[in-house]
Amino acid sequence: MRLTNVRGRLTVDVDGNPHDVERVSRGVFSSDPQAVYDRWDEFWDRIPEMVAAADEPTSGPLAGALGPVVPFPRQVFAIGLNYVNHAAETGFELPADPVVFTKFSSCLAGPFGVVVLPEGEVDWEVELVVVISREASAVTAEHAWEYVAGVTVGQDLSERVAQMQGSAPQFSLAKSHPGFGPIGPALVTPDALANPDDLELGCSVNGLEVQRARTSDMIFGVPELISRLSRTVTLLPGDLLFTGTPPGVGMGRTPRRFLRPGDQLKSFVDGVGAMRQTFVTGLPETASSSPATSGVVGTDKLHSTWGR
Ligand code: ZN
Repeated sequence: MRLTNVRGRLTVDVDGNPHDVERVSRGVFSSDPQAVYDRWDEFWDRIPEMVAAADEPTSGPLAGALGPVVPFPRQVFAIGLNYVNHAAETGFELPADPVVFTKFSSCLAGPFGVVVLPEGEVDWEVELVVVISREASAVTAEHAWEYVAGVTVGQDLSERVAQMQGSAPQFSLAKSHPGFGPIGPALVTPDALANPDDLELGCSVNGLEVQRARTSDMIFGVPELISRLSRTVTLLPGDLLFTGTPPGVGMGRTPRRFLRPGDQLKSFVDGVGAMRQTFVTGLPETASSSPATSGVVGTDKLHSTWGR
């Protein structure tokens, strides 16, 4: 099953045709893309039948209309230094426990859009993002996937100057500028993936591949992260978990390379999909044009019109 946020409305794709969830369920389930996670088990049980009973697709074309599939999570967890060779390229030692920070949820954005570059050095970090489906407290790694609604592609965009500054580095602030958390294009449920613990992911800048790895290379895999986090905090339905980035970020390259106006960043997770961000300085020129025709959406428009 694939879920998307189409113009702020939850859309489900069971057999290749997108369906508006509220319409296909005749109002049983809300159109709010965030609300589904509080009723995940019921949704999982009932929506396939509802889709099968529909005569025709109940959603319009998706292109250029996608918002963040999880627009308003109550908590966003992010993991640093979770791939051996990425820890090495940043100069940090390998962590004995997961390094945890947050991306403040206002930075979330849809999978295709324009990101305004703030002052500093903005870097890319492609990541697998996990979406929590039910309250999780002290769960074992063995059962951790039972608490996952699905996975999606994410970019943990990071402004390195502020991130590394000071005796206590500002990871969370430096990674939370508007548009710094694009996710999508879809949430894909684990059953739809051959092996959710071993997914290829990567990204390219202007067509040049800069990151490519497999999630099986993580130091702490998804089950271990959920287990360890849930020993301290309660994970809530609809929470996001950015699982860390593999090697190949701009700060680890020689010479160092950061995102510049006009750059195009494409990111993918195999079996899940791909995203594309374009970087600009100042206000995006495309903010006033129609997303349906331009295919490019300013983050302000995503926030106000499409449930972020
Ligand atoms: Zn990251």
